Amino acid sequence: MSQIEAIPASAPQVSAAIELTAETLYDKCTALARNLWWSWHPEVINLFRDLDPIRWRQLDHNPIALLSEFTPERLEMRAAELVLYSRINHAYRRLKEYLAEAQTWGNTHAGVLGAKPVAYFSLEFGVHESVPIYSGGLGVLSGDHIKSASSLGVPLVAIGLFYDQGYFKQHLDGNGYQQEEYLNTKVENLPMEPARGRDGKPITVEIHTRTGRLLAKVWLMRVGRVNLYLLDCDVPSNSPEDRELTARLYGGDNRTRIRQELVSGVGGIRTLKALGITPGVYHLNEGHSGFATLEAIRERIKDDGMSFDDALREVAQRTAFTTHTPVPAGHDRFDGQLIEEHLGPLRDELGISFEQLMGLGRVEPQNQNESFCMTVLGLKLSRRANAVSNLHGHVTRRMWAHLWPWRVEEEIPIGHITNGVHIPSWLAWQMQQLYDRNFPVGWMHRMGEPQDWQRIHDVDPGELWETHYALKNLLLAFARRRVSRQCRRRGESDEAVEAARNILDPSILTIGFGRRFATYKRAMLILTDQDRLAEVVNDPNRPVQFIFAGKAHPADEPGKQLIKNIANFRHDPRFAGRIAFVEDYDINVCRHLIQGVDVWLNNPRRPLEASGTSGQKAVLNGALNLSVLDGWWAEAYDGSNGFAISRGSQHVDDAITDARDAADLYRVLEQEIIPLYYDRDIDGLPRQWIKRMMNSIGTLAWRFSADRMVADYVRNAYLPASGGLSCDMSVR
Ligand SMILES: *Cc1c(COP(=O)(O)O)cnc(C)c1O
Repeated sequence: MSQIEAIPASAPQVSAAIELTAETLYDKCTALARNLWWSWHPEVINLFRDLDPIRWRQLDHNPIALLSEFTPERLEMRAAELVLYSRINHAYRRLKEYLAEAQTWGNTHAGVLGAKPVAYFSLEFGVHESVPIYSGGLGVLSGDHIKSASSLGVPLVAIGLFYDQGYFKQHLDGNGYQQEEYLNTKVENLPMEPARGRDGKPITVEIHTRTGRLLAKVWLMRVGRVNLYLLDCDVPSNSPEDRELTARLYGGDNRTRIRQELVSGVGGIRTLKALGITPGVYHLNEGHSGFATLEAIRERIKDDGMSFDDALREVAQRTAFTTHTPVPAGHDRFDGQLIEEHLGPLRDELGISFEQLMGLGRVEPQNQNESFCMTVLGLKLSRRANAVSNLHGHVTRRMWAHLWPWRVEEEIPIGHITNGVHIPSWLAWQMQQLYDRNFPVGWMHRMGEPQDWQRIHDVDPGELWETHYALKNLLLAFARRRVSRQCRRRGESDEAVEAARNILDPSILTIGFGRRFATYKRAMLILTDQDRLAEVVNDPNRPVQFIFAGKAHPADEPGKQLIKNIANFRHDPRFAGRIAFVEDYDINVCRHLIQGVDVWLNNPRRPLEASGTSGQKAVLNGALNLSVLDGWWAEAYDGSNGFAISRGSQHVDDAITDARDAADLYRVLEQEIIPLYYDRDIDGLPRQWIKRMMNSIGTLAWRFSADRMVADYVRNAYLPASGGLSCDMSVR
C-alpha cells in the first residue's frame, strides 16, 4: 500500500487535545484521572494506588472516586509523605505531550482521515473495570480498538451507550447458583462530562417513533486522543420507562433492544452532526448500530438533495462492517411491527415503502416470512465487510453465501481482519520491565511489528521464569483473597474461610479458564472424565490445579448450571484446594488470570469461536495457550508456540465432537504439557517450557496486537472507504 500524504487535522472538535492547564497537584491528579489514558500506564496506576492502596482496591480502581475522598490539602500532605511530587508532575507532563503529539503513525498513514474521521459504533466499550459499560469480549475488543487508534493517532471518534447499571456483578449463592446484582454507578465518579455541540450547549438528540419520541443526552469520555460519545436516555422529558432504556447492557426484551439500537445508531449520527463532525468512514462493530446507515442516508437526501439510491450507494461506500459471531443468537432479528414502530418516521423521510425497508434486512427482500436481521442490513449497507479471524472468514462466507447465490464462496465479499489486543492494557508491569531491559529502546512504539520481539530469545531463561513466577504468586494471592471473601459473604464457617486462604500452590502447574459460560465454550470439557482428572490433579510428583471464572447471561439457564457444577467441585475432596472459582469475571479478574497462569485453556466447539482474544493477552505475559484450533488459534499455532487440542476436526454430531475433543485434551495434558512443565534442569528451570514461552511471545505478541489490527483496518477498510484509495472491496 502506498503512503498517503499527511494532511493536517483541520477539525478541532475531532481532537481530544484540550488545553490542560492544571496548576495544583490536586488539579494535575484530577486531569490524569479524567482521561482514561491513565488506565494503560502502569506508572500512573501505581501513583493512584500508592495514595491509598486499600481504598484503591475497594473502589474498583477508580481514581476519580479515590480523589473525591481527598481534600487538596490532604493530597499535598500524602504526596509529600510519599515523595510523589515528581511522579505526578512527570505523569501530567507525559499526558500533555501525548495529547499534543503531532508526529504519529496515523498522521503519516491515515492523514486523509484527519478532517473526516472514522466514526466507530459499538454497543459496548470495555476500557477499564471502573467504567462498567461492557459485558465481555466484544466490549473489550472495542475498548482495545479505540486505545490503539489513540496510540497510533488514527483520527477516530467512538459512539456507544451509557449504562448506569452496567452489566451485572456476579455472586454465587450457597448452592453455587449465580446471583446478579446491578450497579448504581455514580456519574460524578466516572470520567465523563456532558458533550457540547457547536453552539456550546450540552447535546440532546431526539428520535421520533410511531408511538412517541425518545430523547438522549450525550456524554463525552476521553480515551487518550479518542473521544468516546455515550448516549444516555435518562433524561427528565422521557417517560419513566424510557429513562430506564439505557440502564442495563443486554437487559430487557426485543423491544428494549431495538430501542437501544435506534438510540445508538440514529442517535449516534445525530450526535456527530450536533458536534459538527462529518465522518469519512462509518465502522459498524457488529450489526447492532446498523440503523446508523439509514440516518446517514437520510442526511444526504435532506442536505444534499440526493436520491435514495444514490445516497445509499454513497453511504455503503463509506461503511465498514465487522461481524463477530457464527452463533445464530448473536444476530439480532426484529419483526415488521417493531421495525415500523421505530423506523416508520425515518422511513417516511427516506421516501421508501415498508416492504422496501424490510428488504434491506432480509436475505430475500420479497420474502414476507423473513424478519429484519441487523447482520443482513450491515452486509447490504457496507461495501466492506469482515470477519474477525481467517477461519471465521470462511465460516461467515459460507453462512451468508445465500445473499449472493450466484457467487462461489471465494467471491463472497466478506474478508477478515483478525482481532488483536491492546498490549499496554494487558501486559503485566513486571513483564514490561523485562521487555524494557531486553528489547531495543522505543519498542513500545513498534509493538505491532515483529522485529523487536525476536529479542525475547536472547532473554536469560531464569529471568523470564522468575518474572513469570512472581506474577503467578500475585495471581494465587488474588485468587485466595477473592475465594475466602466469597466464603465469608456466603456466611460459611471460619474454618472454610481459613481453608480458602490456603488453596492453590505456586509450585503446581496452574491452568486458567476464564470466559463467558456460553454452552459452546464447553467449560465442563476438562471435567468429562472426573476420575481421570482426579488422578492428574493429585499426582504426587506432578500435580495440576485449575482456576475458573466467568459469567452466564442472566437468561442463560444452562450456562448457570455449568457454573454451579464447576463451583461445587470445591466440595469434592478429590478436587478441594485444586479447583477454584473466582466470582465476577471482569477486566480486572481477566487481567490477573492471564498474567499469572502457566496455561490458558480454551476449548470451544469448533468453529463457533469467531476469534477469542483472552489467549492473546496470555501470550504477552508468557502463559502458553492450550486451545482447540478455532478462532485466532487456528492461524496462530505453529507446533512450537503453545498446544493444540484436536487437529482442527469436527463431527456433525456434537456429542461425538465433544467426546473426541475431551479425549485429546486429556492426551495433550498428560503426554505433552505435564511432562514438559515438570522437566527441570539442575537450576530447577523447565528449559523446554521456557523455550516455548519464548516461541509464543516471539511469534504471536505483535501479530495479535490491536496496533496491528487497527493498522489493518486503516489500510484495508478505512482508507478505501474514505475514498482515499481504490481497493478491492474485500479485506482478505
Ligand atoms: C478479553 C476478555 C474477554 C474475551 O475473551 P475470549 O477469549 O473471547 O473469551 C471477555 N471478557 C473479559 C472481561 C475480557 O477481558
